[in-house]
Amino acid sequence: MDVNKAKTIRLQIKRTMENLEKNNYGVSYVNLISDLVPLFSSLIEKGSVVGASGSVSLSESGLIDFVKNYDCTFIERYSPLYTKEELHEKNMQHLSSDIYLASANAITQRGEIYCVDGSNNRLAALLYGPKKVYIIVGQNKIVNNLKEAVNRVKQLAAPANAIRLDRDTYCVKHGHCVAPLFDDKHLMSIPVGACEKGICSSFLVLGRQSIKERIHVIIVGEELGY
Ligand code: SF4
Repeated sequence: MDVNKAKTIRLQIKRTMENLEKNNYGVSYVNLISDLVPLFSSLIEKGSVVGASGSVSLSESGLIDFVKNYDCTFIERYSPLYTKEELHEKNMQHLSSDIYLASANAITQRGEIYCVDGSNNRLAALLYGPKKVYIIVGQNKIVNNLKEAVNRVKQLAAPANAIRLDRDTYCVKHGHCVAPLFDDKHLMSIPVGACEKGICSSFLVLGRQSIKERIHVIIVGEELGY
């Protein structure tokens, strides 16, 4: 990467971390994806009960494989054999876990976290329940503000996830949301009936937290997930 561009991104990460800290998040930075496991192994306590959301970032991070082989209890929510009821039970167990791992759809330089869910299990765990939440994001998810966060989801994150999940949606065919435009009055909403089979049900902005460092954001100086 061009040295000037790299320096600019580094400054944006620094500002993001400072504002996350002011908003009561724990924050860490690692240069490389391969640095994540060594960092996380210094943060996790043996015997912890660990849950994790579905996330391309987490899969690419190596952390899921790490916790599966670590001296902890990992609540696996992915199995083609699970019934709907069993999957619900796993999601409920995540809410009382010691540690919950997730990613976010965007992090603003103002220190906000933006997430969009289809079934809301990740949003529920981010909001309340797990004693500690680690959010792992690549530098590609840092945006200036919430409008850019919404745009990022509509133009990239949700279409890519809908393709991954093999959904029959407008964005799968066209590469952007059926409602790509938005304004101050319609920041997040999808027009009624515009996307019946979509993955964008709920829109969460996490701002200043009342419980200091319950949520810990780890930023990676590489591209991770989408
Ligand atoms: S609302 Fe529907 S079309 Fe728009 S990004 Fe989400 S899944 Fe795709």
